[in-house]
Amino acid sequence: MNAVAALARECEVAMQAYLAGSGEAALRRAYEAGRRALADGMGVLDILAAHQAPIIRALQSQAPEEGIREPDIREPDSERALERALHCLAESLSPFEMVFRGVQEANGRLQQSLSSLRSVEEQLRRQNEELLAAHRAVEKERGRYQALYDFAPDGYLVTGLEGAILEANTAAAAILQTPKELLPGQSLCEFVVKADRDEFRERLRRLHMGSIEKVEDWQISIRPREGPTIPAALTVVAERSVPAVASLRWLIRDVTERKRLEKERDRWMFGRAKAQAARRFEILAEASSLLVGSADVETSLIGVARLAASFLAGWCFISLVEPDGSLRQLEAAHADPSTADLANDLRRHCLFGGAVDPGRGALLAAPQLIEPLTAEWYDLAADGPRHSALLQQLSGNSALVLPMRIHNRLVGVLTLVSVFGARRRYRPAARALGEDLARRCALALENARLYREVVAERDKAEQANRAKDQFVAILSHELRNPLTPIVGWTRNLKRRTPISQDPLLAEGVKAIEKNALTLRRLIDDCLDLTRISEGKIQTERKLVDLNQIVLTSVEAVRQMAAERDLSLQVELTPEPVPALGDATRLEQVIMNLLVNAVKYTKKSGRISIRTVRIGAETEVEVTDTGIGIDPAFLERIFEPFRQETSSWLRSEAGLGLGLAIARRIVDMHDGRIWAESAGLERGSTFRVRLPLAAEEDQGSAAAAVEQPPAGPANSLRILLIDDLDDILFLMKTDLERMGHTVMTATDGHRGLEAAKAYHPDLIISDIRMPVVDGYELLRAIRDIPDLNATPAIALTGFGAKADIERALAAGFNGCLSKPAEPEEIAALVKQLTEKRRAVHAGAQPG
Ligand code: ADP
Repeated sequence: MNAVAALARECEVAMQAYLAGSGEAALRRAYEAGRRALADGMGVLDILAAHQAPIIRALQSQAPEEGIREPDIREPDSERALERALHCLAESLSPFEMVFRGVQEANGRLQQSLSSLRSVEEQLRRQNEELLAAHRAVEKERGRYQALYDFAPDGYLVTGLEGAILEANTAAAAILQTPKELLPGQSLCEFVVKADRDEFRERLRRLHMGSIEKVEDWQISIRPREGPTIPAALTVVAERSVPAVASLRWLIRDVTERKRLEKERDRWMFGRAKAQAARRFEILAEASSLLVGSADVETSLIGVARLAASFLAGWCFISLVEPDGSLRQLEAAHADPSTADLANDLRRHCLFGGAVDPGRGALLAAPQLIEPLTAEWYDLAADGPRHSALLQQLSGNSALVLPMRIHNRLVGVLTLVSVFGARRRYRPAARALGEDLARRCALALENARLYREVVAERDKAEQANRAKDQFVAILSHELRNPLTPIVGWTRNLKRRTPISQDPLLAEGVKAIEKNALTLRRLIDDCLDLTRISEGKIQTERKLVDLNQIVLTSVEAVRQMAAERDLSLQVELTPEPVPALGDATRLEQVIMNLLVNAVKYTKKSGRISIRTVRIGAETEVEVTDTGIGIDPAFLERIFEPFRQETSSWLRSEAGLGLGLAIARRIVDMHDGRIWAESAGLERGSTFRVRLPLAAEEDQGSAAAAVEQPPAGPANSLRILLIDDLDDILFLMKTDLERMGHTVMTATDGHRGLEAAKAYHPDLIISDIRMPVVDGYELLRAIRDIPDLNATPAIALTGFGAKADIERALAAGFNGCLSKPAEPEEIAALVKQLTEKRRAVHAGAQPG
């Protein structure tokens, strides 16, 4: 029995049992049986059928013979039981009914879907057919180009969006050095060098995302399966016309050769540009050296024109602006020697010549490139029809008109004309070079003009200066002469008893002497400065010890410092400080600094002087606690006649020449001198830096400056010759006071006679005497055998070095400047007589 029949039987039995009055439990059993069958998977229609059969049979068993339409219910109980049974059955059937209804609805919808599915299917089929047709067309096309694709010189690849290779042509396989059949399935990324991989993946990702569709000329390094890395250029297009088959199409090109060519081209271009730039620099350098090399600017400009003609053009014209504003042709330079005649003709005319009329003025306002060169332009540039005709013979191609301007003033015009065949047009670099040349020419012209002005000014100034120096020299000379007897007489007078015992007279004479000495010092300074300025003073280059010079200078000012109650500290290097120089002049410098320090320091102040070695130099430092110097004047005090303070009004101040002279002397020794001061009332420091003598020049510095000790001389017979009575008298008095016997003569003739007759131990003679001067006299004396070894001292005018040198060269053994101080005379006399004695001793046998 099948499940449906079993269910029907169970339901019927339960139904009959219920109708027979066995209670509702039987009915519930029938209901439960139906539910279980549904749960077990029995179809709804089967369940309905199984239920339907017992219901029908129940109705038939309860119904009258004629049918069930009008049931004849005779027993109310059994009627009610049937009613209830039917109701229960109907209730038990309701879920099935609902399901059934749902199924029916679902079935309807299913039907609907099915029909729409069918139409979709139809649509798909049609599309498929179209696709197939298209695919066939593509295949056909592809077939046609397959050979081309396969044997194309560039590599073609198709990859998935992740870069997995789907297809590759022969060239791609060759580039990747992998057999073509092995490529599908491999990742293109594997062929990219590691360094480029991240970028490669990033681009793939962006192609994938659709943010880029195409990449062209993507430079990348490919690492083939074999062989070296190669540079490649990639082009990739995302193919997404049918999203499901999206792929990437690649064009791979090996660009090794291209790179090589590019590199070569770059090298060549760079080399060419470099060579051209180098040439341009060379031209500029050459032009610059031409412009500074010659004192005559026009010669230089002609040189520049020739240079420019050969490098920049066929022709180069230079016209200059004359003082009246007109233009003058300076040069028409040409590169081609065969055009020499034309050049000569052109030089007779002036480009843009004559007056600068408004048309030409505009033409010369700024640099201009004229191209092509028309007959109108030639007419405008020419100074007349003949010139215009000549210009047309140039066969000019284009012209660069470069006005030479300085401070917005036109000083000339540089015109470059390129000729056919030489160059087509002026490139920017050539134009820049032309403009630069024009600028340099303008500058050279301006410099020449300024130089002319400066030279004229300088000549005027020099003339004035020479006149001043001459005036100062003459004046000083003239002033010094009368001073000599004043100083001598006062010195003499103050020793005379009537005067030394009369306080008033003594004071007066002392004042006269002091002022006369001051005057003499001023005059000497003036003379010194003019002589140094005129280069008339030459310094010796002997080995000296600066420590010795400092010591000598310190001794000279010690007394002066003590009088003012100034402490004087000396600190010297333990070893000598060797320098090459003129001891007298260097002493003058140090003395000047020390005397100034004393002069400009108030009572009870401090002065110190020290020497230090600094590298290859030595420094003498003079410091005081005096009135100090305003920083604004630190340099100016070294100018002649400059004084920072008004202290020159005080009697001890000089003319303000001491430091100017000191600086000149130090300069002559290749040294430096400068002042330092923290300000007024804060003391001053003066420093002198001098180069140390080189090793090879060094001997014993100390020995080199050793002075013979001065001492009283033995009594001598002295012949004194001078045309000035005052001098004769003074010196005679001084010499006699020293214990010597003195004979005098007032001119050269008498002097010679006296020498012959008198045979003196020593001759002292003036140099400048009328008729027979000192030199002549000495020559005559030296011609006399008995007198040829007699020591002779020259008296020179004002300590002029030239006179001293000349006197020594003429045979004098020493020099004194008039009027000599007694101590000076004594020292020199002693020195000479001792020398003579030594010579005599050496000459004597035994
Ligand atoms: P002067 O004969 O006037 O001293 P110098 O040329 O020697 O001439 O000095 C120039 C000026 O420099 C002086 O007038 C003075 O004003 C200033 N001067 C020089 N030395 C000192 C110093 N030690 N202290 C202050 N001022 C000084």
